[in-house]
Amino acid sequence: MSEKTDALVLFGATGDLAKRALYPALDQLQRRGRLGIPVIGVARSQWDDDELRQFARKAIEEFGPEGLDEQVFAGLSKSLSYIRGEYDSEDTYNRLREKLKGAQHPLAYLAVPPSIFDDVIRGLEHAGLASNGRVIVEKPFGRDLESARKLNRCLLRAFEEDDVFRMDHFMGKESVLDLLVFRFDNLILEPLWNRHYIKSVQITLAEDFGVQGRGAFYEEVGALRDVVQNHLMELVMLVAMEPPAASHQRALRDEKVKLLRAMRSFDPACAVRGQYEGYREEKRVAPDSDVETFFAVKTFIDNWRWSGVPFYLRAGKRMAATLTEVLVEFQRPPAPLFRDASLPRPHPNQFLFRLKPDEGMSLTVQIKESGNRLVSAPVELQYSYDENREALEETAYERLIGDALEGDPALFARSDAIEEAWQVVMPPLEAPPPLHPYEVGSWGPKKADELIDGGWHNRVPTPADGGAARL
Ligand code: NDP
Repeated sequence: MSEKTDALVLFGATGDLAKRALYPALDQLQRRGRLGIPVIGVARSQWDDDELRQFARKAIEEFGPEGLDEQVFAGLSKSLSYIRGEYDSEDTYNRLREKLKGAQHPLAYLAVPPSIFDDVIRGLEHAGLASNGRVIVEKPFGRDLESARKLNRCLLRAFEEDDVFRMDHFMGKESVLDLLVFRFDNLILEPLWNRHYIKSVQITLAEDFGVQGRGAFYEEVGALRDVVQNHLMELVMLVAMEPPAASHQRALRDEKVKLLRAMRSFDPACAVRGQYEGYREEKRVAPDSDVETFFAVKTFIDNWRWSGVPFYLRAGKRMAATLTEVLVEFQRPPAPLFRDASLPRPHPNQFLFRLKPDEGMSLTVQIKESGNRLVSAPVELQYSYDENREALEETAYERLIGDALEGDPALFARSDAIEEAWQVVMPPLEAPPPLHPYEVGSWGPKKADELIDGGWHNRVPTPADGGAARL
């Protein structure tokens, strides 16, 4: 089914996600003429239509990337209405069905805690609102393989796979999509992009801040579940998957699943867990917490393209910098040009994809050093994305909600991919390696250095690099 969505229902319309991300994204879609359908908020709070509109107005004023434009908001406001009801009450869904009369393909956005998903899906199903409908659910998609399977069963009981949109805003980010385009629209890469030429791949997602008052949330999650199972795995897929054979959305999702199936499950002996000093003193964190705020792993992909190439992944909080990057290191030339052992060895070629901040990429190559000596020295060929593009670009939520409204699931995870990704990360969750404390502002525990030959790529972007985090 790829007919356009003709009504949007926001469950949890009074919540934090709705405020920070959904109303601002809907306002952007309205601004670009891509909405134009009724938007019905559903929640338990004793609100009416006007209170919902006020809430949306404030949310856009505070979080909208372009602020509030009265004319645009007037259009959005007109389409907004509210149903007050319990999520497990038949009456709520009967009233919703009345409001949705005439809508052929309503889209339900579950912006509610995961514990309520089951009630909402059952309510939609019993009211007959699921059979032609679509649904968006937010990450986390389970907290282990078992719970992910349960969530998938619950969703697929009521909806078709292509009508389930598992929202992870990371997958809608411009810089993540850059990687996809760069890999598959540049033929020169393809002959080199394999085990014969690539020595290793490093992926880092570092944050220089801590849990920012969300200790209770983080205690349930930890770094592996929070960002490795989803964001880092997504980057591995984009770097390593085979070219999708067709532009059909199915091809992209098929290739991702094939790659995940070839990935070796994380070996706890090749994984390092860390916790920043002072984490246990954070609010709503257990004084003896064993939750990791840093996770690093060395892993492999057992297919023809990547066999034997180590993939080093790491993510952590309160690290030396906030950045996301992918470093692809090539083999050194088989023999140096100058056989004089006193000369420095040529630096290996490296592609560095900077996803955040200072979005762009560089390729390190060797050139002849200036002067009399016939010696080579590394230089970086640099490309930086237009610094104005933040103002021009869609936010990830706008892009992804827009895709869901059009019924295009390409940038949303499919149920088999979710389960395969959990399969890969389960061993260190089931048998957690020891926890190593690390200093705030460092690159994580020293133990992580033992995983990697040649060391991690520890880059600290300068303040001029800019690039604030965006939803
Ligand atoms: P909230 O805790 O703000 O809950 C959203 C709404 O759900 C609330 O306004 C409330 O509405 C209703 N609700 C909350 N708790 C309960 C409960 N125990 N029983 C019944 N209803 C409840 O959640 P968020 O908006 O932060 O998150 C929504 C979803 O999005 C979650 O699945 C979350 O994991 C995910 N998410 C959130 C992000 C964020 O930035 N906030 C980022 C990424 C994902 P009312 O009482 O009016 O019914």
